[in-house]
Amino acid sequence: MTTEKLRLGDFEVYGLRDGYFFLDGGAMFGVVPRTLWEKKCVPDLKNRIKLALNSVLVRTPKAVVLVETGIGPKFDRKFSDIYGVDRKPGLLPSLKRLGFRPEAVDFVINTHLHFDHCGGNTYRNKKGEVVPTFPRARYIIQKGEWEAALHPNEREKSSYLAENFLPLETFGVLDLVDGDREIAPGVEVVLAPGHTSRHQGVKVHSRGQTLFYLGDLVPTSAHVGLPYIMSYDLYPLNTLETRKRLYEEAIAENWILAFVHDPVHYFGRIRRKNGKYEFAALET
Ligand SMILES: [Zn+2]
Repeated sequence: MTTEKLRLGDFEVYGLRDGYFFLDGGAMFGVVPRTLWEKKCVPDLKNRIKLALNSVLVRTPKAVVLVETGIGPKFDRKFSDIYGVDRKPGLLPSLKRLGFRPEAVDFVINTHLHFDHCGGNTYRNKKGEVVPTFPRARYIIQKGEWEAALHPNEREKSSYLAENFLPLETFGVLDLVDGDREIAPGVEVVLAPGHTSRHQGVKVHSRGQTLFYLGDLVPTSAHVGLPYIMSYDLYPLNTLETRKRLYEEAIAENWILAFVHDPVHYFGRIRRKNGKYEFAALET
C-alpha cells in the first residue's frame, strides 16, 4: 500500500514514502547470522535487502509536522546503482496525493542526518541552487547530530552529504535543539541514541494515545528482537539500552510504533512473548 492513515486522538497521522533502496543484508542485521535473518527478509543475488524510505506526516489542530524526507532527488547514477534507488512514488507526489503542498508543512524533523533520512530536505532548483524543499518549515535537528555531520570521520563520511543539510543554515530555516523538546503541542523530539550519539525519535500524543517514530533505532519490523542491531550503528550497546527502556514504555502504554525502513508495515506494536520482544501488526 502506498500510504496509510491513522487517527491518534485529535490528530491525523499519515504513513507515506519517498520510495525504496537496497542495503547489504549482513550490514543491516549486524551480528545476527544470515540463516536467521533470511527467514524474515529475503536477500537479492547481491545479498541486498529491499528497504523503504518511510516518512510520517502528523496534522494536529496547531501544526503540520513531517518526520524524515527520504533520499530525495539530488543523487547521481553511481549512487543510484550502489543503492538501487527507486523513488516511486516520491515524497512530494505522496504528499500531494494526501492533499498537502510543500508550503503546508510547518516543521520537518530529521531523526539524524544520514542521506536516507534527510535527502528530501532540499532540492536543486532551475538555477542550479540547492534550496529547502519546504519553504515555510522550520527544520528540527539535534545540535550534536549537526556537529557530527559537519565533521564526519572516515567511517561515516559517505553517509553525511552536506547538500542535504547545509542549505538549511544558509536559508535560515534550521532550528538546532539539544535534548528532548516539544516542537508543537503533542509533538516532541526525544533522544534515542545508539545509531548515532544524538539520534532522536519523535513522540506524538493526543487524548491518551501515543505514537513513536523509531527512526534507525529499529529500522524495520524484522529488527524488533534485541540482538537485531545494524552494523551501521556507531554505538550498538547504546542502541540496546535505548531499546530496552523504550520497549518497556511502549508496552506499558500501548504505543503505536512507526518504522522508517519497513517496506510492508508503516506502523505496528511491540509485545513480549516468552521473554523476548516481537512485532505485532496493528489490529484492523
Ligand atoms: Zn536509515
